[in-house]
Amino acid sequence: MKDIRNIPKKELEAFIKENKAPMFRVQQIENWLWRNFVGSFDEMLNIPAQLRTLLKKHYTLTVFQTEKISESPDGTLKVLVSFYDKAMVEAVLIPESQRVTVCISTQVGCPGACAFCATASMGFKRNLTKAEIYAQVMLLQEIAESRLNRSISNVVIMGMGEPLLNYNAVADFCNMISSENGLHISAQKITLSSVGIPEKIERMADDNVRCKLAISLHAATNEKRDKIIPLNKKHPLPQLMKSLNYYYSISHKEITFEYLLLKGFNDSREDAEALVKLCRKVPSKVNLIAFNSFPGANYERSPDLVMSDFMAVLEAGRINVRLRKSRGGSINAACGQLLH
Ligand code: SF4
Repeated sequence: MKDIRNIPKKELEAFIKENKAPMFRVQQIENWLWRNFVGSFDEMLNIPAQLRTLLKKHYTLTVFQTEKISESPDGTLKVLVSFYDKAMVEAVLIPESQRVTVCISTQVGCPGACAFCATASMGFKRNLTKAEIYAQVMLLQEIAESRLNRSISNVVIMGMGEPLLNYNAVADFCNMISSENGLHISAQKITLSSVGIPEKIERMADDNVRCKLAISLHAATNEKRDKIIPLNKKHPLPQLMKSLNYYYSISHKEITFEYLLLKGFNDSREDAEALVKLCRKVPSKVNLIAFNSFPGANYERSPDLVMSDFMAVLEAGRINVRLRKSRGGSINAACGQLLH
């Protein structure tokens, strides 16, 4: 049986019509599924028992469980979530004074094999469904409400997995979470982070996927990027830049380049100058990130002075740049550290 959260709305509409129920039931069912994230059809209190029985006969509901919650002294919470087949992913809740951000996963493991990333070492197991991606947000929303008495304000798709290799589920997720039937989080507050799959970036523009786009760049030349991001060999920088320009021309949304500073690898003055040159090719800004080490990592964090010199070169080149604060390092919940 299919999970009802993974069927297109049109299929639900056809089901309601076939069973001669009034069409307003579609909206009611969607509210239960996406705003309340019910775990059983019997919780859909305003749906007549007969229709609930029919739904039960044809569809299932996402099964997921919290396996573990770890808390960092800075307030960041990392949650290990398991699904029906015991596949596990991590999701992170990051409370700050002005916002509460969740960082969620889109694949179990990742085929990306990036040299700086902890997730890469576990290989690729499977894609998550739209319902499983959404379940992470709902779980963290419950935790935010019960522990902090606050609601989620921002969503970053930067956890385990390369989101654009799971395009349909991720695009549907973005559109649902920003919709009135879902959590109604503004598209401005949802960020999808990818190493860059050009054809999918162009599709995001064509499909008007409701989120912002960040590119995990980490090196501004093919020579260096090939060494740390194997997918760059398949999709080199000129192709990526072409797709970003296409994306901007349709969406008018500025691109964010994420740049992890790795000691002695991509943190020199020449590296910074190459980054300035690249940024001038598309309306963009840069987030510099200090590397968070993890067991078995081959790279080290750049010294603070090197990071500030790097930033100064970008500022002198009139690039909009900031050094992103990383949270959750003590529980391995920071960027590149998710591993399960
Ligand atoms: S950085 Fe992203 S694409 Fe690369 S291995 Fe990690 S999760 Fe996959």
